[in-house]
Amino acid sequence: MTYSASPNCLPSEIDVAIIGGGPGGAATAISLQQQGDKQVAILEKSRQEHFRIGETVPPNIYSVMQQLGAREILEKGEHLPSSGSSSAWGSSQLGYQDFFFSLEGKGWHLNRTLFDASLAEMAAEQGAILRRRVRVVGGNRLADGKWNLALLDEDGSPWELKTSFVVDATGRRSFFASKQGANRVVMDSLLAIAAVFELDNSAVKAGYTLVEAAAWGWWYAARLPNNRAIVTLMSDREQVGEHQFSHWKYWQAYLEQTNYVQEMLAGAIPASQLMVTSAVSQYLDQMTGDGWLAVGDAACTFDPLASAGIYKALRSGIQAAEAIANYFNSDTTALTQYEARTRHQFELYLEDKRHYYALEQRWPNSQFWQRRRFKIALDPSQWLDWEQSPESIRQLQGLKMYLPVRDLHLLCQLCFGGKQAGEVVGKFLAHTQGRFSAYRAIEALEYLLVEQIILRSCTPV
Ligand SMILES: Cc1cc2nc3c(=O)[nH]c(=O)nc-3n(C[C@H](O)[C@H](O)[C@H](O)COP(=O)(O)OP(=O)(O)OC[C@H]3O[C@@H](n4cnc5c(N)ncnc54)[C@H](O)[C@@H]3O)c2cc1C
Repeated sequence: MTYSASPNCLPSEIDVAIIGGGPGGAATAISLQQQGDKQVAILEKSRQEHFRIGETVPPNIYSVMQQLGAREILEKGEHLPSSGSSSAWGSSQLGYQDFFFSLEGKGWHLNRTLFDASLAEMAAEQGAILRRRVRVVGGNRLADGKWNLALLDEDGSPWELKTSFVVDATGRRSFFASKQGANRVVMDSLLAIAAVFELDNSAVKAGYTLVEAAAWGWWYAARLPNNRAIVTLMSDREQVGEHQFSHWKYWQAYLEQTNYVQEMLAGAIPASQLMVTSAVSQYLDQMTGDGWLAVGDAACTFDPLASAGIYKALRSGIQAAEAIANYFNSDTTALTQYEARTRHQFELYLEDKRHYYALEQRWPNSQFWQRRRFKIALDPSQWLDWEQSPESIRQLQGLKMYLPVRDLHLLCQLCFGGKQAGEVVGKFLAHTQGRFSAYRAIEALEYLLVEQIILRSCTPV
């Protein structure tokens, strides 16, 4: 394929190319524009006109929107104010958490399409180039240290763009970072199966997000603008397969077993097909490299239970812009500092997630809840061993869960020759200099045992 230089009066070279115009990409662009001295382009593959799942934001969204100078987008759009959340979690009783007491005021149920498009357009108003319907399909490093991005227009016309820096804001697929060799480390196998309904029930507690735990996962329902609601079942890939939850008939039958969600939907009419999408918590084992970084979901993703993905993407964009400015000012630690901060924020999120899931103690036999109610079964005095062989190294390379492969490998090496679990964990924490909690190390050791990469040994070798 022959690539032409960029069309539509675009410069053939810019300072920062942002791949993806979602909240993470737009926030990076706005923050870079506020610094004022870099030519920035957002390259977005869609028209930003399609329906998107993920719409509830708590009041803390105000602080980041304020920092971006974008508060008006919330106030002016057709977004619905949210008064708080209600949940049947840990008990069949419905509890309420009001935003009334929040210093930052109310939350929102966003018109997500409008929100994403407005933020990207705000970046354009401030001077960034916004090119929609253009997909980045590749990128290679040039001899002068710059990048050459390969792009395709919606009609299939190829062109290319030279840039000094690339921001991967492509969401959970982390398109560009993956091409640079970064791997996703996944923490679970959560899937979201959602449908939109037209509501016939104006008495529905306006603006309250509803969460209801169930044996095989949990349900989530929220009002959308225009008297509609989104209803989502969150369950693990394995349970979705076993119970056929991605088929309307089984999804709806399961919905009818809920107490509160089906009550909210009384008289409602389905207004969409089922939409199935990944909702796993994951992070990249490499979030930055020379001349590039990943923001928002491209760097790490949160469980929708947290309703924090949009906030996190905006905050990440602000932090990314700061790191990029420092990088251009020859600060050689700027990108590693950004990465360390992002990793730390992800570790804090994992602790919150663990805490919240542990509050639900019903259904002790459900695999969904067992996985999230992780109890440490490994005795610290248990002897462990790793038999190093080309086969076990090959198996190790194929593992994708809990820790990056290099850290799983380190755990294996620490078991080599027969070591007690407690000693392995202690040495691992010392080697990794506080990057992980003891809990994370034990979780990974148990994973290596299940995968039979390391073995329990009865006696010291
Ligand atoms: C089921 C579910 C429910 C959720 N609910 C909530 C919620 O209630 N509240 C909340 O705060 N968060 C929620 N989230 C999370 C939230 O949607 C994300 O965290 C947020 O969208 C991340 O923003 P982002 O900009 O990083 O990525 P995205 O929003 O995914 O944006 C990525 C953009 O990159 C573009 N792109 C991708 N590849 C290319 C390419 N090669 N070239 C050009 N463009 C490309 C895409 O078109 C897209 O516009 C939910 C997520 C899921 C899965």
